[in-house]
Amino acid sequence: MKSKSPLNYYYQQELKRQKNTLNLIASENYPSPEVLFYSGSLLMTKYAEGYPKNRYYQGCKYIDRIENLAVDLTKKLFGAEHANVQPHSGTQANQAVYLALLKPGDKILSLNLLSGGHLTHGASVNFSGIFYQVHYYNLDPSTQKLDYEAIRKIAQEARPQLIIAGYSSYSLQIDFAKFRQIADEVGAYLLADIAHVAGLVAAGLFPSPVPYADIITSTTHKTLRGPRGAVILAKKTLGTKIDKAVFPGNQGGPNLAIIAAKAQCFFEALQPEFKEYQKKVLENAKTMADFFHQKGVKVISGGTETHLLVIDTKKSYNLTGREAASILEKAGLVANKQMIPYDSEKP
Ligand SMILES: *Cc1c(COP(=O)(O)O)cnc(C)c1O
Repeated sequence: MKSKSPLNYYYQQELKRQKNTLNLIASENYPSPEVLFYSGSLLMTKYAEGYPKNRYYQGCKYIDRIENLAVDLTKKLFGAEHANVQPHSGTQANQAVYLALLKPGDKILSLNLLSGGHLTHGASVNFSGIFYQVHYYNLDPSTQKLDYEAIRKIAQEARPQLIIAGYSSYSLQIDFAKFRQIADEVGAYLLADIAHVAGLVAAGLFPSPVPYADIITSTTHKTLRGPRGAVILAKKTLGTKIDKAVFPGNQGGPNLAIIAAKAQCFFEALQPEFKEYQKKVLENAKTMADFFHQKGVKVISGGTETHLLVIDTKKSYNLTGREAASILEKAGLVANKQMIPYDSEKP
């Protein structure tokens, strides 16, 4: 590609960086050439506001088939009743869910940011913390594990309309059946945000929230190994509400290039090799956690049952997360800092 702007140079340098470093960032992944092809394809030019067979633009014959295929493959992959493949990001997927289920000022109960929750689960700087009343549960201070009795108690006191399970930096499995019980006891909706672990869920290596949650949101670019974007799964009864909250509630035109790349990603995730790949991801993460453990490094929550792990760099190396991540980058290992439960440091 000839270009007078510095763009091509920057692109080549980034390519080199990606090839010459070891990426340890749990939210990033390596999509297939096919996923990359579709995500940068001319499908991106098509306006298709609305849903298949019900568009605001002509010329959607094949676009409709692509979106329907993506929806069908998502439903098949997760065994879900309803799927929406249009959200541009995990954040917008969550935004659509809140728009569908809550009124401004309603109460959300979620894991606090320090313990591994996500910005969109109620951080004060995010729309979720601005438009909704947020109550938090915490991890057990000594084990750094979910404490379902403590969550039940907080739910009974707070009486939220929505309970969120699913996190950005929690390394252990989640008991979605227990969350369902708690949600039923207080009459709340249950949202499972599986942005991180969706690939493991699809491979049957992490408990599926599908039988228990009212709504499930997920990004497609983390363990799923697809394009940057998200999907929403829902019980059939909530399908229309969710679709309306995505479009016209929260987005205009969908990005059909990305939707095609999502379809490609789900197709790949349905192949037997995907399960083998996810098994190896899990094995690698466990091996790494065991290694740290043997070296006397503190692994948060005592280990990992997922693709990710969090270590306490302060306790083990007397470094802040920022310092440790910066030293690692100099050695070609790209990781990210993260708050840890009951952190004494700033983000
Ligand atoms: C990554 C993540 C998101 C948001 O994804 P974006 O696509 O970056 O907006 C939402 N929820 C959780 C739990 C995540 O880890």
